[in-house]
Amino acid sequence: MIEKLSMAEYPPITFKKLGRTLPKLPKKKPKKRIRIGDFAQFGYCPYTAWHLAKRTTPIFVPKVKEAQIAGKNIHNQLDVKHEEKMAELPKATEKTMQDRYKPLMFPRNLPVYLYHKPFLYVGLIDNACREKDGDIHIIEDKTTKRIMYWPWKDNLLQVKAYCAGMANTYWRKFDARYLRWHIRYRDRSSGEHLNDFEGMYGSTSHEDLFESLGVFEAIYQGEDISVEVNPKRCVVCKYANGCSFKA
Ligand code: SF4
Repeated sequence: MIEKLSMAEYPPITFKKLGRTLPKLPKKKPKKRIRIGDFAQFGYCPYTAWHLAKRTTPIFVPKVKEAQIAGKNIHNQLDVKHEEKMAELPKATEKTMQDRYKPLMFPRNLPVYLYHKPFLYVGLIDNACREKDGDIHIIEDKTTKRIMYWPWKDNLLQVKAYCAGMANTYWRKFDARYLRWHIRYRDRSSGEHLNDFEGMYGSTSHEDLFESLGVFEAIYQGEDISVEVNPKRCVVCKYANGCSFKA
């Protein structure tokens, strides 16, 4: 049986309200563009996110590289299955998109943008759909070697940024009630579905996300702020050999 852990969050923020609150996406892409996946590493260590965003060279540990290749293979297999399913469905009309209670299936790797001036965060959502309940479900597939009892903080930050990006990018294009996120852990070798964590985007997620964005941007812009570093993480960090922030 697949274990599920639900994180209810009150008050939830509606899709449209969130979309209206966020700044309108710029017509011209700003110079300060950050990948959501890179920013999300803030959950592991704020300076890992800095290294990724600044494109410093990591000293890859072979194990990390192997894990990345295995994860990519599983994602590719999921992409193929999803494309086959989508090919059988009729194309959504404008009317269907605006009817929140009509289910919708989005293509995998759906692009989303989150504008937090002057930074534009860009990401590709693994999997998303709108269900009969009127909610958008954002699913992030992760591969692991072991059963997870709690999602990693970087995985949580990533899905929260995807929820905000979904609203920022698409709130005019289609209607929905709330945003729900799911982190789906799969076995790294077989792709077998191990367990799920799910939650709703609400005020706590919003505060956590925007506080993290603020700290990340301060570090990125070289502001003099100090952030606590966990020395245990430095030991296994791929940037450890060239990181001046190391504890
Ligand atoms: S070496 Fe330590 S401080 Fe530097 S990025 Fe890695 S975990 Fe963060």
